[in-house]
Amino acid sequence: MKRDEIVNHYYGLWHVRHVLGTGDYTYLDLIEFAHSVSDLHALAILVSNYDGQVCNGGHEGYFGNGYADRGGGAFTDHPGTHLHDLMLATLQYHGLTEHPVYHVMSLFSVSPESDCEDCSGTGQFTEVDDDGDYYEEMCYACGGSGVTDHPSLSFNADAADALYYSLRDAWLVYFDASLKWSTVRALPERIS
Ligand SMILES: [Zn+2]
Repeated sequence: MKRDEIVNHYYGLWHVRHVLGTGDYTYLDLIEFAHSVSDLHALAILVSNYDGQVCNGGHEGYFGNGYADRGGGAFTDHPGTHLHDLMLATLQYHGLTEHPVYHVMSLFSVSPESDCEDCSGTGQFTEVDDDGDYYEEMCYACGGSGVTDHPSLSFNADAADALYYSLRDAWLVYFDASLKWSTVRALPERIS
């Protein structure tokens, strides 16, 4: 079974669930359901979305769109690494840690705060008064602390992006071959 078949199948079920179902059914719900059928099915979706997100917007986009945490769409806060950790743990469980991409993925980390954008993390502004003298004005956006409680990446994402781009073709060949898709459990007919 090919990775794309698995991913497309689950997204198809998700679409049907969305059309027929009542209430929200999130990306996290989909991954947890896939994981309950087969951890390899969940891994196929996680690895494919990591690849798609990092190729389109780098690790910053992967993080900002919520794929590392629990989904939930763009421009919302994603303070955790719940799904990223699940991806790493499942790769570990299946012995897929030899490839250098595993180590690129392991660099991923998130800080619960980030530098204040208004004052560039300095906590203050330098102003000029009517006499031409300089004085310091506290930044009200961050209360002078220089940080905000908006989560941010705490590793060198640009370097990780470049590494991933140089390794991804070989990685996906390795990943798909390593998982022996013929032994993967049958795809479910519906979301239960
Ligand atoms: Zn500030």
